[in-house]
Amino acid sequence: MYTLNHRINGEATAGTSGRTGPVFNPATGEQVATVALANKADVDAAVAAAQAALPAWSAMPPLRRARVMFRFNELILKNEEQLAEMITTEHGKTIEDAKGDILRGREVVEFACGIPHLLRGDFTEDVGTGVDAYTIRQPVGVCAGITPFNFPAMIPLWMFPLSIACGNTFILKPSERAPSCPARLVELAHEAGVPEGVINLVNGDKEAVDAILTHDGVDAVSFVGSTPVASYIYSTAAEHGKRVQALGGAKNHMVVMPDADMDQATDALISAGYGSAGQRCMAVSVAVAVGDETGDALVSRLKPKIEELKIGPGHADDIEMGPVVTKQAHERILNLIDKGVDEGATLVVDGRGLKLQGYENGYFMGGSLFDNVTEDMAVYKEEVFGPVLVVVRADDYETAVDMVNRNEYGNGTAIFTKDGDAARDFAERIQIGMVGINVPIPVPVAYHSFGGWKRSLFGDMHMHGMEGVRFYTRQKAVTSRWPKSGVREGHSLTMPTMQ
Ligand code: NAD
Repeated sequence: MYTLNHRINGEATAGTSGRTGPVFNPATGEQVATVALANKADVDAAVAAAQAALPAWSAMPPLRRARVMFRFNELILKNEEQLAEMITTEHGKTIEDAKGDILRGREVVEFACGIPHLLRGDFTEDVGTGVDAYTIRQPVGVCAGITPFNFPAMIPLWMFPLSIACGNTFILKPSERAPSCPARLVELAHEAGVPEGVINLVNGDKEAVDAILTHDGVDAVSFVGSTPVASYIYSTAAEHGKRVQALGGAKNHMVVMPDADMDQATDALISAGYGSAGQRCMAVSVAVAVGDETGDALVSRLKPKIEELKIGPGHADDIEMGPVVTKQAHERILNLIDKGVDEGATLVVDGRGLKLQGYENGYFMGGSLFDNVTEDMAVYKEEVFGPVLVVVRADDYETAVDMVNRNEYGNGTAIFTKDGDAARDFAERIQIGMVGINVPIPVPVAYHSFGGWKRSLFGDMHMHGMEGVRFYTRQKAVTSRWPKSGVREGHSLTMPTMQ
């Protein structure tokens, strides 16, 4: 059993709250760690450290901050095995999947290595006679990041490397359910040369989050998690004068057209529906089959593949799917499957009864597949966040598009088709932030930006890419004139214009 502390101003500390929480290994159901839960005084200390570190760090030339990012990237790579091990132990995903989590995060660090170029402003000579104008981007100040359990490497790395590369200082509050990997990433950042106070870690729950959201010394808040919490974060932080981006939950539909290659579509649904036991915000949880023949073709292909999924502890070889994260998540997902049956959906594959020998206390379940699901059923309406795929049958393409557009979430979606007209129309008309065309999980690469629409994102700026740079900087426009000495134009009370 290990203990996880905060790291404030470069120092590990248990803080002053006296409160701790348990961290479990979902494969065994055993408690593996205790995590300190911060109170307001601990958050105050982290903010004070971040404020003290800000002047020197923000004044450092971006090229030097970039060099720190290059070293950080190398250190993450060097420690990949250890980080993956931590993720698998506390989250449950397979080691290979954990390495994907780390790599997608590292790509944002690579993007942040280009910060001297990314911060370049614009310059216009002679906007008036002898007058030049330029824009510069400056850091926002003290930023905070609050992250979910499901990507313990990628999501913290979406936030703090780019923020500090832009010249801000940062407080990370990771999920209390999988806190080891984020804590190690903060240690590695220090090892790479990020000074004390520039990055601080506070572990905790609502108490720590509320202290961050209401703190006068915090200038910007990035959040990723479930929709009810994202909505709360957005309104509370905005009310307290902060810049906020709060990414929420999802219900991602994959529309399969009758002309699609059914084998390719099936493979895509298996990967996107059951990878990481369905606990990805970009997991496909709804397959919209256009036409009954498409529905039949998909269900008959999906069924044997789901039944053959290799399920077990993420550390074992040849495993495709691990457990879900907590006992509560396990119960919630099983309840939703029960409800789906009660509400009249056809349960084609039932993953509820799975017990693994030697892992009877782990939070395992098999993959489940529902057919004939309708929009009024709980298993369609709620974000399941587990290995459950539902098939909804749509009579035609327009019905499918309307269904996706009606859904309250707007994170990701995909269309599988060979028809370029349909694909183009879909990309144009669909009310969703990230769209895949024959790509089931269209997570943008680091130099593009990640973010949903509707109740999947509160605020207006997406994560990483140029939107990330904009979020973590403020633009300033400077207009300058250097009059020749002795030359006077006299005063004028009319609005200045460049005549
Ligand atoms: P969560 O909302 O329970 O927790 C996220 C963070 O908020 C954690 O750090 C947690 O400590 C904190 N928190 C929880 N309840 C709080 C409260 N009442 N007040 C203040 N802070 C609180 O989310 P989770 O279960 O860790 O993660 C899964 C959810 O995150 C899913 O809904 C998933 O779709 C979503 N998610 C979204 C994205 C995206 O990019 N849109 C990415 C990953 C995960």
